[in-house]
Amino acid sequence: AAMRSKRTRKTKTVCTFCGVGCSFEVWTKDRKILKVQPSEGPVNAISTCVKGKFGWDFINSEERITKPLIRKNEEFVEASWDEALDLIATKLGGIQQQYGPGSVGFISSSKITNEENYLIQKMARQLFETNDVDNCSRYCQSPATDGLLRTVGMGGDAGTIKDIAKAGLVIIVGANPAEGHPVLATRVKRAHKLHGQKLIVADIRKHEMAERSDIFMRPKPGTDQVWLMAVTKYIIDQGWHDEAFIRENVLYFDDFKQVLETYTLDYAEEMTGISKETLIEVAEMIRDADGTCVLWGMGVTQNTGGSYTSAAISNLLLATGNYRRPGAGAYPLRGHNNVQGACDMGTLPNLLPGYQQVTDDTARAKFEKAYGVKIPSQPGRKNGQMLDAIMEGKMKAMYLVGEDMALVDCNANHIDEVLSQLDFFVVQDCFLSRTAQYADVILPAAPSLEKEGTFTNTERRVQRLYQVLPTLGESKADWEILQAVARRLGADWHYNHPSDIFDEMASLSPLFSQANYDVLEGWGSFCWGSHDGTDTPLLYEDGFNFPDKKARFALNDWVQPVEFEAQYDCHINNGRMLEHFHEGNLTNKSQGIQSKVPEIFVEVSPELAKERGIADGALLRLVSPYGALKLNALVTDRVQGNELFLPMNSVSKDSAINFLTGPAADVNTSTPAYKQTKVRVEVLKPK
Ligand code: SF4
Repeated sequence: AAMRSKRTRKTKTVCTFCGVGCSFEVWTKDRKILKVQPSEGPVNAISTCVKGKFGWDFINSEERITKPLIRKNEEFVEASWDEALDLIATKLGGIQQQYGPGSVGFISSSKITNEENYLIQKMARQLFETNDVDNCSRYCQSPATDGLLRTVGMGGDAGTIKDIAKAGLVIIVGANPAEGHPVLATRVKRAHKLHGQKLIVADIRKHEMAERSDIFMRPKPGTDQVWLMAVTKYIIDQGWHDEAFIRENVLYFDDFKQVLETYTLDYAEEMTGISKETLIEVAEMIRDADGTCVLWGMGVTQNTGGSYTSAAISNLLLATGNYRRPGAGAYPLRGHNNVQGACDMGTLPNLLPGYQQVTDDTARAKFEKAYGVKIPSQPGRKNGQMLDAIMEGKMKAMYLVGEDMALVDCNANHIDEVLSQLDFFVVQDCFLSRTAQYADVILPAAPSLEKEGTFTNTERRVQRLYQVLPTLGESKADWEILQAVARRLGADWHYNHPSDIFDEMASLSPLFSQANYDVLEGWGSFCWGSHDGTDTPLLYEDGFNFPDKKARFALNDWVQPVEFEAQYDCHINNGRMLEHFHEGNLTNKSQGIQSKVPEIFVEVSPELAKERGIADGALLRLVSPYGALKLNALVTDRVQGNELFLPMNSVSKDSAINFLTGPAADVNTSTPAYKQTKVRVEVLKPK
């Protein structure tokens, strides 16, 4: 027993499977994970969900890439690190020299650490003198960030996850936290069940939180902004708004009232399909609540009006005085474990680390001095624009870290075509993702359990991960790989540990000036944007994040959803599933999880099933203007009418939603409008 306990190690880390940011100790013996033990995590205490508890076998998967791979004659062959690094330096360096800035683009990841994200933007800006760097928040959360930046000035949750339990009313719009953010959802469930908290859910699918809610409304797809504005108008018309709060804190109230003119209850009922009576009930519930929090996800953001709808949520909260106190405010739910951190670290074409604009001469000058180069004063290309630039022959090479673009970007068939145009493509990943198959060089990356660094969760909380296991084979932490590549390209980078990188980042970003690895030691954490960064993580305590400290009502009208030809008569929604992480690249290599959900399916309503003769398990072919998929039907009343639902976690790669999605995007941030997809259904085998 003594021998055994000696070999059992307990190491604290942070979960990598969603933006809630649970932390726990992982008990290991050699490379075997014995158990996951939550205890003192500032977010989750003794809770985790099924992914955090059982999702880790992928770590020892046979499919891990453990050596650099180089494409030779259309096959990947193993290579030494030296060979791979030399090739990258020659090719990328050569392309940059020949074609100049803008010929190499960078895609970062919301799964890797803050330090690694920082280095990717540094590599782009310092070594390639470009702002052409983006991350996967472009696929999900950029519209939420945009809506908040324009109204309240900070792209983050207004308070902590714990604060949500203090709200009198929680409104969830286009999100399914019971599956996407389970431990956060538990807090809402408990407050609702035990402490009289009210719950309103607006969603096109009747998921678990909808079942639990006091009011569940099903707006027609893409119409959330209409009901939000109508409810806001009704509240103001009734005099239930917070006049004093607005006077003191918010600009453009008169203009805002004018914009609201169109959004009467009649108009909203017609456009959204939600009855006037329900909308009045919603308004009354907001009036009566002691604090309202709005939680939203990709059902809002992945629409042509995603950023304006996010702003409409913030407008409603401003009009009712629901900011600047615990248990109130805007809570965009970050999907990936580090989507917040990736944005904080400036892997964005318009932002330097710590939300400093590249167009801000003073901020840019600070980075130029630190990096010893000129940084372009204009924003770079977003990922969609990079793809266009590749098709136009302007961008020749791409460096992508831990992102499966060919599976998660819209219109997968088109992405295939784009990626095959690249002259040179470097991918860092743990597995041979669909995207990696287009690479010229694949560098074997270590997953979170095999490295140190920090993640930032949805409530802006930075937490440390400690290395649980040694790296597998010749794989390396992404920060080490980036440093090796940068040095091979001639950069003077000498980081011995992620803390060195963090310190450099913090020295250049006022948002993090009080943060360092000592503060983050053990279970310690740091929330940016609040008074002392550690224990009162409420945003806007000293006013909103504008020079005059005032928030602004956003003055945007509703953006109508995309129209489809009549033959595409079924709307197809997509979303998360409890068991799987995002596109499933990790969790589909975890046996326990894979055996629970071996196959992906499409949900069909009982009405549609009856009308078209579709039995449970029938084989369907879904055809959109952009592609087709074959899937088995799951008949369920979670969906209604001509509404279909496909989990986005493609267990089998060929069943990904993005073989159906098209090029439509949020008008403001270019985030794909994944949620505006329509198909026609062909019944191949009725069963
Ligand atoms: Fe991990 Fe999210 Fe589950 Fe927590 S709720 S254990 S962070 S997947």
